[in-house]
Amino acid sequence: MFKAMRASDLFKSRPEGLYCPPGDFFIDPVRSVERALITHGHSDHARSGHSSVLATQETLDIMGLRYGEDFAGTTQAATLGETLDINGVAVTFHPAGHVLGSAQICVEHKGMRIVASGDYKRQKDATCLPFEPIRCDVFITEATFGLPVFRHPPDRDEIARVLKSAAQFPERSHLIGAYALGKAQRVMRLLRDAGYDRPIYIHGALAKLSDYYQSQGVDLGHLEPATVESGGKADFAGAIVVGPPSAFADRWARRFPDPISCFASGWMRIRQRAKQGGVELPLIISDHADWDELIVTIKETGAEEIWVTHGREEALVRWCELEGIAARPLHLVGYEDEGD
Ligand SMILES: [Zn+2]
Repeated sequence: MFKAMRASDLFKSRPEGLYCPPGDFFIDPVRSVERALITHGHSDHARSGHSSVLATQETLDIMGLRYGEDFAGTTQAATLGETLDINGVAVTFHPAGHVLGSAQICVEHKGMRIVASGDYKRQKDATCLPFEPIRCDVFITEATFGLPVFRHPPDRDEIARVLKSAAQFPERSHLIGAYALGKAQRVMRLLRDAGYDRPIYIHGALAKLSDYYQSQGVDLGHLEPATVESGGKADFAGAIVVGPPSAFADRWARRFPDPISCFASGWMRIRQRAKQGGVELPLIISDHADWDELIVTIKETGAEEIWVTHGREEALVRWCELEGIAARPLHLVGYEDEGD
């Protein structure tokens, strides 16, 4: 099919982020802009201070919870699968399987279709809608775990290791470090799916988002605040406690009896990294595609050209070239991967 538009005219890298000149909008800009389309609520993608924001209702809600209701001048909710016209450019949001509300953004103009994936994964996750492969000319993929060494095992197996350890050491508590948006709720949901029905104790930093997930129909079961008021050390014997990874380094963690530190992250594949962080029970649970998922997804989009962003760009670019697919790194800056 003849394309009246070149991919490089439909999207450009700017210091603010990925810019669409004909539509005059940015996707996940890292600085304040006039019009921002946002893929999901992680803080490196969803920043406050834009004049207008278009995102799924869940992402708008999450931004409101994190930044306050005045996080943008105006907001508009995008319905998944429904095409909107922005200055003559067709824009459609599709599920990305990353966290609640996460979306890929498909942009089409004069016969050229580009899909910006945002962050995504292919493993099943009961806390959000599954990734939907979209046929396109250019696919913009993340590459957080874009090296063949990164292969995520089934998340059920990882959670089973926590439950086994908890059964083995009933007098100790298990502290699971998990990022506040997405990972924490997924870990709790996995515990429930594995049959764990005791209260799960959570750090205060997880409360708002976990309540929000529950309000959206993601059942996390009985959650209790992991505060001093809720009991002395002995009361946490055998307990499973979930908190942001940063909390485990401070005083907060000392209230628990002889804790076993766990950390749910794709980086736990690297033993050295777990050891350095003092993690006794590393859990390889990631909300990003691993190497195999990246490859499968690139193939399923049928894209002739791949643009690779935030992560290990070079290895994936090289793989594409060997497969005869044109590819290049985008070198966008400012994405620090809040929720690996
Ligand atoms: Zn993310």
